Amino acid sequence: MQRLRELSRRVEAVYGEIAETFNNYQQRQGLQCRSGCGECCLAPTIEATVLEMLPLALYLFDQGKAEQTLAQLEQLTEPQGCFFYQKLSFDGKQGQCSVYQQRPSICRMFGAGGYRDKTGQTSLSACKTIKLDNPGKYQQSLIMLQSEPPPLMMLSKEQVNELDYQLGNNHYGINTALQLALEQVLFKASYSFEQTDQQIA
Ligand code: SF4
Repeated sequence: MQRLRELSRRVEAVYGEIAETFNNYQQRQGLQCRSGCGECCLAPTIEATVLEMLPLALYLFDQGKAEQTLAQLEQLTEPQGCFFYQKLSFDGKQGQCSVYQQRPSICRMFGAGGYRDKTGQTSLSACKTIKLDNPGKYQQSLIMLQSEPPPLMMLSKEQVNELDYQLGNNHYGINTALQLALEQVLFKASYSFEQTDQQIA
């Protein structure tokens, strides 16, 4: 369990850097998310590794909510948006994250970020709402790709996942990744309790 906690602290340290890097870029370019928008969280295609969900899994464990959350996640039958997204509008497009401090890497890059295109050049990915809200700033950001390149999303994810090859190797739907992370935490916790019991005996 101690190893998982240490690993989680290292993941969280990288998360701080990722959030700052992407926030800075999006603010400089005027490409921030629309206030209260939760369309990314609604998408059933968000992916994360087990490692990326480890801080959240440990947080839930410390809150005494690990078993209950695991049981709820096991009830989910089809790909759907994030379990932790709270819808605040009828169509679900307005909402909020209920685990904002523990959200995984991908959520810290929502909105606008860089990727390598087929030719290996840095390109800009921005969500359709941001493009609609800020067409001029989006165009300007494309013009400035060389002088003001966006941070690369893939590199940031690698920065996290290289901390543990095994837990950071495979990507799953965000709800499945959390389910697997909770299973890891609960398994390690029960193993730690057994060891403590044996030492006392
Ligand atoms: S963890 Fe939070 S920010 Fe990330 S997809 Fe879920 S609700 Fe959205």
